[in-house]
Amino acid sequence: MMAGIAAAQCGHNVIILEKNEKAGKKIYITGKGRCNITNACDVEELFDNVVSNKKFLYSAFYGFNNSDVVKLLSDAGLETKVERGNRVFPVSDRAGDVISTLVRVLKKLNVKLEYETNVSKLITDSRDGEEYVSGVVDDRGRQYEADAVIVATGGLSYPTTGSTGDGYTFAKETGHMVTQLSPALVPFNVAEEDVKSLQGLALKNSGVAIYDGKKKLYEDFGELLFTHFGVSGPTVLSASSFVAKKIKEHPLKLVIDLKPGLSAEQLDTRILRDFEEFTNRNFNNALDKLLPKSLIPVIINRCGIDEYKKVHEISREERMRLVNTIKNFEFTLTGLRGYNEAIVTQGGVSVKDIDPSTMESKKVKQLYFAGEVLDLDAVTGGFNLQIAWSTGHLAGVSIS
Ligand SMILES: Cc1cc2nc3c(=O)[nH]c(=O)nc-3n(C[C@H](O)[C@H](O)[C@H](O)COP(=O)(O)OP(=O)(O)OC[C@H]3O[C@@H](n4cnc5c(N)ncnc54)[C@H](O)[C@@H]3O)c2cc1C
Repeated sequence: MMAGIAAAQCGHNVIILEKNEKAGKKIYITGKGRCNITNACDVEELFDNVVSNKKFLYSAFYGFNNSDVVKLLSDAGLETKVERGNRVFPVSDRAGDVISTLVRVLKKLNVKLEYETNVSKLITDSRDGEEYVSGVVDDRGRQYEADAVIVATGGLSYPTTGSTGDGYTFAKETGHMVTQLSPALVPFNVAEEDVKSLQGLALKNSGVAIYDGKKKLYEDFGELLFTHFGVSGPTVLSASSFVAKKIKEHPLKLVIDLKPGLSAEQLDTRILRDFEEFTNRNFNNALDKLLPKSLIPVIINRCGIDEYKKVHEISREERMRLVNTIKNFEFTLTGLRGYNEAIVTQGGVSVKDIDPSTMESKKVKQLYFAGEVLDLDAVTGGFNLQIAWSTGHLAGVSIS
C-alpha cells in the first residue's frame, strides 16, 4: 500500500492486486490490534533495531523515515501518539484506522485496489540481452500487463492474513536467491516438563541469557512469560531473532535470573531475613515473600531441599543451592515455535540481488521488492512496519 501511494504520487497508474477480500489484513493484528505503526526514535536508532541487513536500509530509512510515515498518516487524518519505548500508535488504539487511512489515500490517488486476486506468476521477457518484467498472471489465468511490478507479498508468518510466501516463489522463478527462512520474534519450546506448571506466569523483571555451551549468544532484561510449551514474552521474542539460525543446529540453554536486582550475596541476606521471620515453618511455606506462588514448588524441587524441612534446619550449603537455583533458573530450548506464532519471517529475497538505492532487482529490470519478503527483519517496537513503509516508499518512487 505504501509502495502504491508513492508510485501514484509520482504520477504512475497503479493497481494493487490483493489476494484477500480486503486490504492490510495483517495490520489488523499488529500491536495486539492497536498497530504499533513505527518508533519515534532518532533515525540512526532505527538501524540499531534492525536484526538482518541493516546497511541495506540506508537509502530506504533516510528517504522515508518514521516522521515521514507519521506525517503522511496525519495529513490524511490519522492522529498518532507515542507510548513507552517510543512506540507510535493511532490515538484511537484501532489498527483498522491505519488501514482505512491508507486505503483512503490510495483511493484519492486513483489507485485501483483489486481484491480476491491471487497472483501466481510474474511475466518476464528478454530485450537486448536484459530480462524485464512485463506483468503478472493470477490463479484464474487473468493477465495484468505492467511497465513495472513491485512484489510486496510479505513473509510466511500468520499465513491466515495472506502472507503465504508467494513472493519467495516469484523471486526464485525469476533467478533470485532466497536466503534460509525461519520464524522470528517467536516463542521457544523447552524440554523441561516442570514448565507446564508455570503456564501463564508473567515475570516483569527477569534477566534472560541464552547460551550455546559456554558461549553467551544473547542477554536481556525485562518481561518473560511461561506457556504450556515453553517461554514467550518480549525478552524471549527478541532473543529468538538473534538465535534463530543456531537453534536449528542444536538445543540451547536459557538461564533466567529471577532476581536480577540482587547479587547472590544480597539474595542470600534477603533469604536469611525471611528464614528468620519464618524460622519454625516448613521450607515450602517460607518462600511466599520471595517468589510467585506457582514458582515455589518448581524452585523447591530444583534446589533439592526437602520441602518439609524446618527452615531453621536448612544449612548454608542448601541455602546457596537455593540462591543458585533462583539466579540461574535453567531451561533447555529445543526449538522455535512455528510461523503461526511468529511475528516476522527471518530470511527472504537476498539483498545481494536488490539495488538498495531503488529496491529494483539486479536480475530483472523494472521488478521491485519491498517489505518482509526481503531478507530484512527487526526487533519489536514498530521497526518491522517501518521497514515495510520505507522500502515500499523507495520502490514506489524509484519506478521510472
Ligand atoms: C501478530 C503480529 C503482530 C505484529 N505487530 C507489529 C507491530 O505492532 N509493529 C510492527 O512494526 N510490526 C508488527 N508486525 C510485523 C508486521 O506486521 C510485518 O512485518 C509487516 O506487515 C510486513 O509488511 P508487508 O507489506 O511486507 O507484508 P504483509 O503485511 O504480510 O502484506 C502482504 C500482503 O500481500 C498479500 N499477498 C501475498 N501473496 C499474494 C499473492 N500471491 N497475490 C496477491 N496478494 C498477495 C497478502 O494477502 C498481504 O495482504 C506484526 C506481525 C504479526 C504477525
